[in-house]
Amino acid sequence: MLLVRGGTLIDGTGSPPLSDAAVLINAGRIEQVGPRRSMPPPPDAEVIDIAGMTLLPGLIDGHDHLASHGYGLAQRWGLDEPHSTHHLRTARVLQETLATGYTTIRDAAGLDVGFKLAVEDGLIPGPRLVLAVGIISPTGGLGDRVSPSGHSCCVPLDPTLPPSVANSVGEVRTVVRTMVRAGADVIKCATTGGASSRPGHGPKDPAFNLDEMQALVEESHTLGRRVKCHALGGPGLRTAIEAGVDSIEHGCYLDEDPELLSMMADRGIFFVPTFTVYVFHREQGPAHVRARGRDLQSHHIDSLQRALAAGVKVVAGTDAGGHRHNINARELQYLVEAGMTPMQAIQAATGWAAQCLGLEQEVGTIQPGRLADLVVVDGDPLQRITLLQEIERIKLVLKSGAICVDRRGEKVISPLVRPQA
Ligand SMILES: [Zn+2]
Repeated sequence: MLLVRGGTLIDGTGSPPLSDAAVLINAGRIEQVGPRRSMPPPPDAEVIDIAGMTLLPGLIDGHDHLASHGYGLAQRWGLDEPHSTHHLRTARVLQETLATGYTTIRDAAGLDVGFKLAVEDGLIPGPRLVLAVGIISPTGGLGDRVSPSGHSCCVPLDPTLPPSVANSVGEVRTVVRTMVRAGADVIKCATTGGASSRPGHGPKDPAFNLDEMQALVEESHTLGRRVKCHALGGPGLRTAIEAGVDSIEHGCYLDEDPELLSMMADRGIFFVPTFTVYVFHREQGPAHVRARGRDLQSHHIDSLQRALAAGVKVVAGTDAGGHRHNINARELQYLVEAGMTPMQAIQAATGWAAQCLGLEQEVGTIQPGRLADLVVVDGDPLQRITLLQEIERIKLVLKSGAICVDRRGEKVISPLVRPQA
């Protein structure tokens, strides 16, 4: 048994912080939570005192691409280095991501099931993983891997990342089943282009008809998988919501059709805005990508504020990978800058995120019965949300009650982690 005590508890439910709290962990799960004075240590318990620090649920990123290491065509297609090097690079990202306090990641395509098996087998350290495997789209959509020259012949076929193009109701069902066979925990699809997609398939250009999307959602739900849908704006955004997807990823132009937000609230559809990736696109993308990033910015902020007002639950996701990794906590800063309170931003990366992933009985809140995924932070993130980005302040990371990272003393467990500038 382990008793973590003396710090301020933020439990991930949105409840006010509890100072001088204690959390008792037994066999990987949280057994008891309360004021320290009411919880004397059991005789056989190890005690960790964290006075002056804050205890949070392990953080969750609802939209990451852990196996993505650049937006260049050669990098995206895996042509620039041997697969083994690429996989080791990805394993390093998993370890470093865990060490920043992120104990659960929903990967939005590109990470194959082998990584999840490796983490579960203890071969490599990493967050618990919820995998999408691939992005389902029609020809010409986000999941169609064709170069600007029209070539697709040099995309290496990896049986763990099967092709994800589907062009009819029947094909959509087949591809959903194929993704599940390949290990998908969640079905990712795209009903619009994006900021970084090719010229001619932009944020408001649609992909998929309503009947195809309805079949995709029905097939996914039949197989017990939720649907996360990349949709920025235009008619494809409405198609996704009408079809009943479970989360809208990006959702930059939701403000242009406010009826959509009340539909999302009514149906319990989550909103994963991913502000972080658009900062990168505005600053470093090709000209057409920067222009898209600039155009959507004010709409995106307006969409977030309207979503909160409509009662839509918001989830933190960075869309990291193409730009860089291990900056997941930056999204919380952007959520606050866009209008959320620090407590709401923390919920977006804990309790609400767990609900979005369907894991709310396991992770996301510090409550009896949950897995003991915990982060101890030096300081008060409610006063300054950006301190979650300062890796030296992430003093302890626990996953299922096991200490994965310990930066309290001289010896740092998890030595591979580099401090972020
Ligand atoms: Zn993405």
